[in-house]
Amino acid sequence: MIVVKRIEELKQLIWEAKQVGARIGLVPTMGYFHAGHLSLMHRAKAENDRVVVSLFVNPTQFGPQEDLLSYPRDLERDRALAESVGVDWLFVPEVAEMYPAGYQTFVEVTELTKGLCGARRPGHFRGVATVVLKLFNIVAPDQAYFGEKDAQQLRVIKRMAVDLNLNVKVNGCPIVREADGLALSSRNIYLTPEQRQAALILSRLLNEAGRLIEAGERDAQSLRRRLVQTLATEPLATLDYLEIIASDTLQPLTRLQGEILIALAVKLGATRLIDNRVYQLAPGGEC
Ligand code: AMP
Repeated sequence: MIVVKRIEELKQLIWEAKQVGARIGLVPTMGYFHAGHLSLMHRAKAENDRVVVSLFVNPTQFGPQEDLLSYPRDLERDRALAESVGVDWLFVPEVAEMYPAGYQTFVEVTELTKGLCGARRPGHFRGVATVVLKLFNIVAPDQAYFGEKDAQQLRVIKRMAVDLNLNVKVNGCPIVREADGLALSSRNIYLTPEQRQAALILSRLLNEAGRLIEAGERDAQSLRRRLVQTLATEPLATLDYLEIIASDTLQPLTRLQGEILIALAVKLGATRLIDNRVYQLAPGGEC
């Protein structure tokens, strides 16, 4: 595996690979790898001839009060993990390489970014869409891989790829969880042991929603009320959002039907965790 820091060097390596017909897979990340990241890399490896993993803590997607500076980093560990999966190129650009002096161009996906994390983190998806489009232009991948853990992000990137006629297939990959249900996240490292235990409330809520839907609940407001009550039983957790929405448009629902998404963000101390699950109901509302 080659660690590449310069855009021009990566473009050259990819150009050479494409000359001999190699299909290129891209996995964009912010590093501090866990099994969720590795699952994306494995899939990219299985479906392509060459795999690029980008590791870039993208400053334009962090708000001024957010954890850009304290975001966990461990390049040596990440390097070894990516190599163990068989990644070909680990792209680790400096901020000035991606955003040199004079940089002023941004991408906005307008509707899908209005709610959920987009509402709580102004400018976040503008930064995400911009850096991902830059990575797509640098790597020109045949396929790119994103986790369903970041459900809104996945929809935003898919929309951008359609709207801007990008020649890349955007794939969503299932959420990888700890044995006890907690979705893997680089930010889990911030949790105290008590908060780590309390963080189970996220997956518990999604499971409870599944049970209630299976038992016939079809009213979004009453489902939400029940879930918010359950959340209140965990004193260390505070609700940021809990949305019951159409999985494709992310628009709020009154009645549950079709493919629905329950997306939540919960704070444990200063740490904000997100999780989500898709529930498949018949168009008329039956399970
Ligand atoms: P990040 O480094 O947190 O920006 O994540 C990089 C990619 O890994 C994104 O596409 C995430 O959605 C994905 N990812 C993060 N956590 C998980 C997880 N637990 N399961 C699957 N994919 C994940």
